[in-house]
Amino acid sequence: MLWLVASLFFLWCAFREIRASVVAPAGFDFPTPISKPYLMAVLCLAVVFAWPPVSTWYFERFLSVRASLLADPNRATVHCNTIFDTMLDSEMLAAGHANPRTGKIAIQHPWCGTLRAYLRHPARATEKELESLDIFTHESMHIRGELNEARTECQAVQRNYRAAKLLGVPDTIAKRNALDYYTKDYLRRGSLGIMQAAYVSDQCAPGKDMDEHLPDSTWAP
Ligand SMILES: [Zn+2]
Repeated sequence: MLWLVASLFFLWCAFREIRASVVAPAGFDFPTPISKPYLMAVLCLAVVFAWPPVSTWYFERFLSVRASLLADPNRATVHCNTIFDTMLDSEMLAAGHANPRTGKIAIQHPWCGTLRAYLRHPARATEKELESLDIFTHESMHIRGELNEARTECQAVQRNYRAAKLLGVPDTIAKRNALDYYTKDYLRRGSLGIMQAAYVSDQCAPGKDMDEHLPDSTWAP
C-alpha cells in the first residue's frame, strides 16, 4: 500500500509538471516549459514504486489460478501476506492458512518470496524452497475440503509433483523436487515423533491407507 502511495505521489508530480506546461501556474503569466529530465525522473520513480505491489498482485493471480486447479472443483484465491499482514494475522505462527468456505488462502511473509525464488531456479531448490511449494499445495488441499492436517499434508505430498508442473517447473525437475520433499522432509519429520504427529502419518506412503493412487502421484513409478 505504501509503495502505491509513493507511486501515486510521483505520478502526481508528473501530472503537475505537464499541467504547468499547458496552463500558467499560479503567480505566472505564461505556462512554463516542461523539464524533460525532471519528468523522466518522476515517471521512473512512479514505475519503480509501483512495481513491487503490481508484481505481487500478478503472482497472487498466478497462484490463485493454479491453486484452483489443485482444489478442483473449488475456487481458491491466494494472498501473499506482507510483513505487516503477518504481524497482524491471528495465525501468524502458521506458514499459511486457508478457509474452505471462502476459498481464501493466506501465505505468510516471507514464504511467497521463497516460492518465487524456487520457481526461478527449481533445479537448485533448497529445502526451504521445497517447503514453500508444499505450503502452497497444502493450503490448496484445505480449499479442496480437507481439514484434517495429516490427511491434508499427505494429499499435498502426493500432489507436489502436479503442483510444481502447474507452476511451470519442467517435468523431471518437478518429480525430483516433489520426491525430495517427501523423502528428505516429510519422512524425516515423521521420525521426529510427537511434535509432528498432527501433520505426519506412517499411513502416508505408497500402498498405505492414505495413498490416493493418483496416476501422477509424486511417488507413482
Ligand atoms: Zn493445514
